[in-house]
Amino acid sequence: MRIFLSGAAGFLGSHLTDRLLSEGHRVIGLDNFITGDIANIQHLAGNSNFRLMRQDVSLHIEVEEKLDYVMHFASPASPNPASALGYPNLPIQTLKAGALGTLNTLGLAKRHGAKYLLASTSEVYGDPKVHPQDETYWGNCDPVGPRSVYDEAKRFAEAMTMAYHRFHRVGTHIVRIFNTFGPRMRLDDGRVVPNFIQQALRHEPLTIYGNGTQTRSFCYVSDLVEGILRLMQSDEHLPVNIGNPAEISIREFAEVINRITGNPAGLIVQYADGLGDDPQRRQPDISKAKELLNWQPKVALEDGLTKTIDYFKSKLGN
Ligand code: UDP
Repeated sequence: MRIFLSGAAGFLGSHLTDRLLSEGHRVIGLDNFITGDIANIQHLAGNSNFRLMRQDVSLHIEVEEKLDYVMHFASPASPNPASALGYPNLPIQTLKAGALGTLNTLGLAKRHGAKYLLASTSEVYGDPKVHPQDETYWGNCDPVGPRSVYDEAKRFAEAMTMAYHRFHRVGTHIVRIFNTFGPRMRLDDGRVVPNFIQQALRHEPLTIYGNGTQTRSFCYVSDLVEGILRLMQSDEHLPVNIGNPAEISIREFAEVINRITGNPAGLIVQYADGLGDDPQRRQPDISKAKELLNWQPKVALEDGLTKTIDYFKSKLGN
């Protein structure tokens, strides 16, 4: 297939690109490099099945070669206001990527008669009151809170995708992605995995925001990519959760990273101010993906973390 992918130089986009190319597809990757990193796709220079478009997804997109599939992954994704790459510092770009970017990529799919996949997020569930979260839960989001630029853009993106499906009969898919980690996460994006690993490698105490009882469920990137590939080939138009249901508190997560890295700062944790709107519990119900796609994650947290730590070591030159 000829596949258009926005956000191709991002963490998820670049892994997806590699996998699609390895399956024999051609990929036309778009990125504006606000949060994407050229280093993630440098190895593709000279690959005749890959073409890079340096462009903002919120501007009109023209692709001449006939497309079979359009995938929309472009968006800032880190909620950390302490990072220049966090969406609190890119609020208008985040809203535009979710709203105008979704409109443009859906329009592109419609014009080409191509199928479509939207990268949505567990953030559509907000700070959930239902646990674990399954796809029928409508969410608990603050439309004007600190996370709203991301949450509401993605909720709008889902609505727009369903409108193109219902009204224009575009063959669409929506994946709700839960916390994912692995090599090529940006060192400076302020999310918990790069922050903790860097602090541990520098033998510093890990900075836990809030009291550390908040939970997340971390999925290794290769598992996520496999789930997305299966969803692409399915007939499901309604959202599907893809993530790892193994739930862990942020405090326990810090302890795991300290143990694997042998951080001599040990279990000393530093309680910084909690982030506004920080969801207290997050865990996907993946029954739908299991049943529909015969998918479930395979990589254990510690194995994924070991690979990720090796990547960060090479980036930091240790
Ligand atoms: N967090 C933390 N220390 C950090 C970065 C994040 O304790 O240095 C916490 C954050 O408050 C949240 C969790 O880790 O509860 C996951 O944060 P992340 O930014 O990775 O993504 P989120 O799941 O909130 O979108």
